Amino acid sequence: MVDSKTLETSVAILQPQTVKPLPWETLKQQFQQTPYFRAIRTEQERDTNLQDAGLERADTTERGFSLTIDLCPSNKPLTRSVFEQLIAAFGPEEKPIPITITITGLWMARHADDLAYLKNLVSRGQLDITWVNHSYYHHYDPRLPLSVNFLLEPNTNLSKEILLNEQAMLQNGLLPSIFFRFPGLVSNKTIFDRVLSFGLLPIGSDAWLAKKQQPSQGSLVLIHANGNEPLGIADFIQLIRQHSGAIRNKQWLLYQLPTSIVDTVGK
Ligand SMILES: [Zn+2]
Repeated sequence: MVDSKTLETSVAILQPQTVKPLPWETLKQQFQQTPYFRAIRTEQERDTNLQDAGLERADTTERGFSLTIDLCPSNKPLTRSVFEQLIAAFGPEEKPIPITITITGLWMARHADDLAYLKNLVSRGQLDITWVNHSYYHHYDPRLPLSVNFLLEPNTNLSKEILLNEQAMLQNGLLPSIFFRFPGLVSNKTIFDRVLSFGLLPIGSDAWLAKKQQPSQGSLVLIHANGNEPLGIADFIQLIRQHSGAIRNKQWLLYQLPTSIVDTVGK
């Protein structure tokens, strides 16, 4: 379930007789002034890019940014140093530290101990993680052009990619948020609109550190902690060091994604 005002999600067991299905158009009219439907309208204005469609920048009056960490399928262990550095840098000022992790089914299947490590940081009150669906299989073929790669690969079963991953998240005790991140940040209008039709809000990034994109206020910063992007991790750790004074003075903060997006689209 999603709260249309806060974009926070929750899971509940509902009796069928207490749930009333309504056509999307009716919901739209009833809830059009809520942040959720505002966000959907914003999404619809930016659904055509091949790369980086979706919400890529949040509230620009923020004194900091939202950190998003992708866990695409990988045989390498989780880069735990990222989380250690984050806690060391932000821990005294922000506890728990709000971060967003986008996760794939294949990563969860191969990294039970790393997932337990992350969940433990949450239960110890050090991290507050917004979990984002990043598809189950996340296919990628380095030989193919983007237009037929990732979820645009012919014969991709989008429903399976989304729903299998959502099931895996729930089975692993993770609360799926209302957001979705396209593998490789690659989509076209057809597939983007299909993700929207699941009620999910795709997020892009305006600061993919390994691509040398610099974060600014309200950025959605992207790094990979799956062992495959040492460059972005090194940049991120340097970024934290550069701003250590500002972090201590609370002039440089990390923001929670749902709150940030609500502030962006208006309450
Ligand atoms: Zn990915």
